Amino acid sequence: MIEIRIHGRGGQGGVTLAKILAASEHCEGNSVQAFGVYAAERSGAPVQAYLRIDDEPIHNPNQIYEPDHLIVLDPTLISPAILSGLKPGGWILLNCEKSPEYYAAQERVATFRIATIDATSIAVKNGLGSKTVPIVNTALAGAAAQLLGMNLESVIEAFDDFGFHGGNIKAAREAWDAVRVQQQAPRPGERHQQVMPHERGPGILDGNTGAAPALRTGQWANQQPVWQNATPPCNFICPAGNDVQGFLAALTEEDVNSALEILLQTSPLPSVCGRVCPGFCMTQCNRSELEGPVNVRALERYAGDHGETQISVTGQRLEKVAVVGAGPAGLSGAYHLARLGYGVTIFEAGSELGGLMRTGIPSYRLPREALDRDIGRIMALGVQAILDTRIDHHRLEQLTHEFDAVLAATGLQKLTSVDLGVDLGSGKGQVMQGIEFLDHARQGSINVEGEEVIVIGGGNTAIDAARSAFRLGASDVRIIYRRTRDEMPAIPEEVDDAIDEGIRIDFLCSPIRMRRDDGKRLLSCQRMELGEPDNSGRRRPIAIPGEEFEIPCGRVILAIGQAADFSLLPHDAVLSKTQPIETDGEAPVYPAGDLLTNEGTVTAAIGCGRDMALMLHERFSGEKLYTDPPAAETVVRADRIRLQHFDRHHRHDENVLPFADRKSSFDEVRQGLEDVVEAKRCLSCGVCNTCDRCVTYCPDGVLKRVGREIVFDYDYCKGCGVCMSECSRAVIYMKAG
Ligand SMILES: Cc1cc2nc3c(=O)[nH]c(=O)nc-3n(C[C@H](O)[C@H](O)[C@H](O)COP(=O)(O)OP(=O)(O)OC[C@H]3O[C@@H](n4cnc5c(N)ncnc54)[C@H](O)[C@@H]3O)c2cc1C
Repeated sequence: MIEIRIHGRGGQGGVTLAKILAASEHCEGNSVQAFGVYAAERSGAPVQAYLRIDDEPIHNPNQIYEPDHLIVLDPTLISPAILSGLKPGGWILLNCEKSPEYYAAQERVATFRIATIDATSIAVKNGLGSKTVPIVNTALAGAAAQLLGMNLESVIEAFDDFGFHGGNIKAAREAWDAVRVQQQAPRPGERHQQVMPHERGPGILDGNTGAAPALRTGQWANQQPVWQNATPPCNFICPAGNDVQGFLAALTEEDVNSALEILLQTSPLPSVCGRVCPGFCMTQCNRSELEGPVNVRALERYAGDHGETQISVTGQRLEKVAVVGAGPAGLSGAYHLARLGYGVTIFEAGSELGGLMRTGIPSYRLPREALDRDIGRIMALGVQAILDTRIDHHRLEQLTHEFDAVLAATGLQKLTSVDLGVDLGSGKGQVMQGIEFLDHARQGSINVEGEEVIVIGGGNTAIDAARSAFRLGASDVRIIYRRTRDEMPAIPEEVDDAIDEGIRIDFLCSPIRMRRDDGKRLLSCQRMELGEPDNSGRRRPIAIPGEEFEIPCGRVILAIGQAADFSLLPHDAVLSKTQPIETDGEAPVYPAGDLLTNEGTVTAAIGCGRDMALMLHERFSGEKLYTDPPAAETVVRADRIRLQHFDRHHRHDENVLPFADRKSSFDEVRQGLEDVVEAKRCLSCGVCNTCDRCVTYCPDGVLKRVGREIVFDYDYCKGCGVCMSECSRAVIYMKAG
């Protein structure tokens, strides 16, 4: 687009000049826009006219604040004010007798190209207007046509529309030939210089006599619009601290690598979270008010699986940190510390890295390749790992002498049990812990073929154990849970999948004992009802007296919870999210992940691992990289989104493995999205996506976009609020003036 601003005086024909050039360009097949600014001006007062030319349709109705070129009809207007916003390398066509070099010699116009034409003499000679008020616009049309590379004949043809003949045509032809252009002019774009509309700068041209062009109307306003990005609810809720809106915005541009780069700023495990995160962001997504939340989880998986980017170490530190436990919390802490330049050594009790992501979550939900890819990225930063090494209380104390700091992320190691009248471990494997069952299942070291399996519990471990037993060929799989579906801590989609796979769930049901009858094993259960909420906020299950029943069972899998084992830590340790544990050794110990919070998700463990790593970094470097979460009031909820502005688009879901193929295989059930079109459903709540509705609808034409931001010309903004009401995503708000 070419934007030209014309400065003239009332009566000189500046607006008509804009229209002539527009008419000519329109005949050439271009889109054009030409208009003047009229306020209280009278004949002789300074006025401005604007001309836009583009080969695309023009939607911006605003005044031109950063013109590509200027045309000045009256020599007395040559002043600092007219240069406002002119782009470097733009030309200034001046109606004056002087040569371009006269102005070009002035150092402060060095970034512009000067052209001059004595349009006044040409007009007088051709009898246009009077000697005191010559009409110079047709001469300037000829000169401007020359500078713009327009077809002079088509400009002259356009005169017809305005009833201009004779002297006007001669004037245009003469000016076309006579216009003088500065030699060795700067090229367009040389030396960037940007002047905001409300920052009209000090004079650039010498010897000015012109006045400010228009009557300022901004002082009538009693409120002013403010442009400011706010907090999208998805970003606010994400326990890993991901910039969800940011990576979705990159995906709307199909920029998968940038999306991955954004995710890796906060979380090193996007391929994992893109599969197993419960999707907190999706529960808060404002798109739910239309046709359902954006499928953020699947898009994160896409970015993690398909994006490529280099992650580099950003600093160099002398301190060494020991990380105990290689689950998501330990790995996240190790990743962020390694990026900051610390020497990191992980001590892991198991024989592989990943914690419960590897030993607990089955591969039909999280294939090992995806986990290994994410972990590989962390280890590539130079993190050392010592496997098969369980750290006990004594060894931890030694580590506090050998290292400068310790991050303890050992998860939940104590398993909860119930007394079924059978000793765990002594019942020939007929009663076992869910975690152990899953670990055996992944190693292929357990067989439940043809067995009736009962799983007790309502969390992810219970659902995964049941679905794994189904895949290992159990004849019947049944889950016993003492509350209702609403209280189940397991991820709802996984519960749906389990039910779809034919697993029966007995709600409001609690196991009491196991017994053998006539060679058959039976599990006695008690019917429950819900009472008042307990400490967890969930309604407490209460036994209904006399309501007992028995069900046949081959194997019982207990999945009723785990708890932290603090025996590793100093005896008087107080765990806190804001303070490390100070020890007798020199090094502080930072607890992280489920050991500290028991939040029970990979995503929360990642966020906690990072927070602790950044807290550790602040202690050693004084640099505060941890940012406090944004205030809840800054979150843009659906009631602030103009939902009516958005088209409806159906949600893109992943293909799933057919049921028939699940029975005997641990192949991944969800198969990922084929593309990233789904990202376009993001409403970009609270974050400007440069839709420019505000620019289009401003009735006074006083705002413009600078890069990704919107700038208001408060000198002229009357505070009507149209920009705010047209902003679809609550980025513009009104402030008392
Ligand atoms: C079956 C199952 C399914 C789950 N599904 C999901 C899901 O779909 N989505 C989700 O978000 N969350 C899920 N979770 C929860 C999630 O896995 C955990 O909340 C998360 O892994 C906790 O991370 P962490 O790093 O704190 O601990 P962990 O993942 O438990 O890692 C702790 C690590 O420390 C090691 N360790 C322990 N003690 C020592 C020691 N003394 N010395 C050295 N190393 C030690 C362990 O071997 C382990 O590798 C699931 C959990 C289970 C059990």
